[in-house]
Amino acid sequence: MNIHEHQAKDLLKNFGAPVSKGYVITQANEIDNLKSKLLDNQEYVVKAQIHAGGRGKAGGVKLTKNILETLEAAKKMLGKTLITHQTGPGGKEVKRVYIEESSEILNEYYISCLIDRSNSTITFISSSEGGMDIEKVAQDSPSKIIKTRLSNIDKISENEYNSILLPFKLNSDQILQGKIIINAMLEVTKKNDATLVEINPLILNKKNNLHCLDAKINIDDNALFRQPEILKLRDLNEEEPSEIEASKYDLAYIKLEGEIGCMVNGAGLAMATMDIIKMHGKEPANFLDVGGGASKEKVSAALKLILADKSVKGILINIFGGIMRCDVLAQGVVDAAKEVKLDIPLVVRLAGTKVDEGKKILEESKLKILSANDLNDAAKKIVKAIK
Ligand code: GDP
Ligand code: MN
Repeated sequence: MNIHEHQAKDLLKNFGAPVSKGYVITQANEIDNLKSKLLDNQEYVVKAQIHAGGRGKAGGVKLTKNILETLEAAKKMLGKTLITHQTGPGGKEVKRVYIEESSEILNEYYISCLIDRSNSTITFISSSEGGMDIEKVAQDSPSKIIKTRLSNIDKISENEYNSILLPFKLNSDQILQGKIIINAMLEVTKKNDATLVEINPLILNKKNNLHCLDAKINIDDNALFRQPEILKLRDLNEEEPSEIEASKYDLAYIKLEGEIGCMVNGAGLAMATMDIIKMHGKEPANFLDVGGGASKEKVSAALKLILADKSVKGILINIFGGIMRCDVLAQGVVDAAKEVKLDIPLVVRLAGTKVDEGKKILEESKLKILSANDLNDAAKKIVKAIK
């Protein structure tokens, strides 16, 4: 789960990280209230709160000189559709704006703290090249990216602090500030089950102090059951409606851009199914894993979800019956097809537990279903059927 920049800054601030004073608005009528809170002779920065980066380059970060300009920029920002390299071509509507006291920047750095699965620890990544696309820095000048793996996540050693802060070339005062920020990032990660805490840019401000100018936090979805406070920060406006619907049924669903909807059991098989669709020249419309022992209600919800996606031109169901039974799958498909009109080609490939019973249910349903013998045959058939 993602949270907004202002929420991420609040979490970091609670552990002593320096952030600017700011105000959140979600409605135009709140702008008037803001007027009395803003200071004369203070510059502000008006920031779109969307769950996507690259706002700066897309007009989602506006520096303003006085109260009037700030209020106007906030008014303009609210409701605007922002297209950044992370939003997709449709962009995202700005439903929340953050107004904070602006900082003067002497230098911009990059720092993040993340769960390093391959080493079973927490790793800090730091770079002198902050503010810009860190992926590009990693590609063009990898030597400028410093990775520091913590050997003990309960106590960071002096060597580790030095290694993390090395690219910033700090004086002794700033090193102390850096340590506070590192500790805050680590505590936020551990306390909230974050998979990523990123500050980009971390800056040196006019007073030569380290300061967090942006913040991004990702939380591990699998830990949300024990993070009630974090769950309150969830903003459903920022999530794909079909993915919210899928989460109600505990379906692992991710919407994609293609035309072929897929329903599969098992993440590995789902990936293989998507690959084989691509090999036959088409793109999958989604990733969907109905999971191990899915009920017919769950299968039915999954099919309805796929059918609700208007870009879907055909559906491929690929089930390898193990714990999941083919007859349960078939009944779920038939039930869903009774409720919503199935007017696009559907190819079904079934194998494994109760396959004959499953095929019989599909046959007797009189639904127009193309059946396939194996995965390759299934992909070939659905690609042909939508042409
Ligand atoms: P992002 O583009 O979505 O990552 O948004 P950021 O919050 O990182 O802002 C983008 C850029 O705007 C930063 O790299 C800064 O250069 C600039 N910026 C953001 N806040 C301030 C500020 O308070 N003062 C100044 N001078 N620039 C800022
Ligand atoms: Mn940023």
